[in-house]
Amino acid sequence: MNTSTIAMPSPIGKPTHKPQNVQKEDAMWLQKELINRNYMELATARADNRKVSATFVPGNLNELLMCFDFARSLPETNALQNGMRKKSGKMIMDAERDGQSEDVCTYVKADLGMMMGGEIGPTGEPMPRPDILLLSYTGCFTFMKWFELIRHKYGCETVMLHVPYQAEGRIAPNMRDYVVKQLKETVIPTLERISGVKFDIDRLRQYMRESVKAEEDLVAVLQSARHRPSPIDGYFGAVYYIGPIFTAFRGTPEATEFYRVLRAEIEERMRLGLGPITPEGEMGEEKYRLVVEGPPNWTSFREFWKMFYDEGAVVVSSTYAKVGGLYDFGFRHDPEHPLESLAEYCLGCYTNLNLPSRIDMICKYIDEYQADGLLINSIKSCNSFSAGQLLILREVEKRTGKPAAFIETDLVDPRYFSAANVKNRLESYFQMVKQKRTAALAGALAGAVPGALPGSMPGAHAPFIPIIAH
Ligand code: SF4
Repeated sequence: MNTSTIAMPSPIGKPTHKPQNVQKEDAMWLQKELINRNYMELATARADNRKVSATFVPGNLNELLMCFDFARSLPETNALQNGMRKKSGKMIMDAERDGQSEDVCTYVKADLGMMMGGEIGPTGEPMPRPDILLLSYTGCFTFMKWFELIRHKYGCETVMLHVPYQAEGRIAPNMRDYVVKQLKETVIPTLERISGVKFDIDRLRQYMRESVKAEEDLVAVLQSARHRPSPIDGYFGAVYYIGPIFTAFRGTPEATEFYRVLRAEIEERMRLGLGPITPEGEMGEEKYRLVVEGPPNWTSFREFWKMFYDEGAVVVSSTYAKVGGLYDFGFRHDPEHPLESLAEYCLGCYTNLNLPSRIDMICKYIDEYQADGLLINSIKSCNSFSAGQLLILREVEKRTGKPAAFIETDLVDPRYFSAANVKNRLESYFQMVKQKRTAALAGALAGAVPGALPGSMPGAHAPFIPIIAH
């Protein structure tokens, strides 16, 4: 890709240096700049006389927080950035020494460890203590316990937005009204009081107009993976694409510009018939198309991605790339109904969906993206994603007839990434996909109905081959 066509702003006043041994799309560099800029804003928040908020990615009410001029911190993003920079291992062990159990979500322990180590953020800048913890409770119980812990340590206030779980697989009007009522009566008055800024609903509408543009472009990028070859990787590559919109930038003109640039770049790759760019270089022949469920491992992110690159495997869609919003299922922020749309956004988060909805979603991806199968990366310390994943695996196999496999790693705890084990399991899985494809082809050539082969017939139970890394 020709970098000369892409504007590369340097928002923190430093030139962009691209290491020669790592390949990234231009938009990936731009994303990195945005994330770094947010850390700089956090570091200078006190000097700039700004109040600081912390909130989680699923249920992130970024447009609302911007209405009160908060500098915005996202604890999961801090943990994963520390994980990618190989800093999280010590933080987790420090938190364990301080009494946190081995089973606690490692994002939480990395956050607590960062606090114990002097609150230096991933980029080396100091992290300010939040003035308010905005707890949008969207399905993961850990969110509540996490903010309970740090509220004590920071001595700051929490404002909770209780989001009802989608137990029936749909959003009922009373659920939406309940969330709007809390926004009006509790959340907005609290944010006004802490920030000293009066709420202006027209300001919220304006941010949402920007959000919609970015959401449209993001969906076009993610859905480009329906094309063969896919111009993107919908898991490893997608984590760069979702960065700005899932964090402190949704609703800003910078995010709108980022997604405009990204979409143009990806559409050009699609037009040229190119596959994804990976850190190892351009993806060669696309041999396998997969759907992945579960968050990635961050401490060995590049090594993990390389295992797929080496096999010619492209992830065409993933549930993790929807963790901060299900835009590809049609949701858009609505400037005409701003509070209702914030409520629907929170209610529709992936972490707030029941198991049948998650299964439907994965089956739909396998069908629409013509995937060869499903891979589940089960995260040892994330109960929210891991609960029910074996059931998901069996049900998806039964409904699609496509092979599914299960590996186990962790988010930011380097002790739980066993490269040899994961590689071994992946190789077995790709072998299984190949065998099923060969058998299906042989059946088709022999004049049989392609779907009539055992395990490939829609609705038939495919043989379950457990591929578990630990
Ligand atoms: S348990 Fe999972 S969903 Fe919940 S905070 Fe930890 S990583 Fe996020």
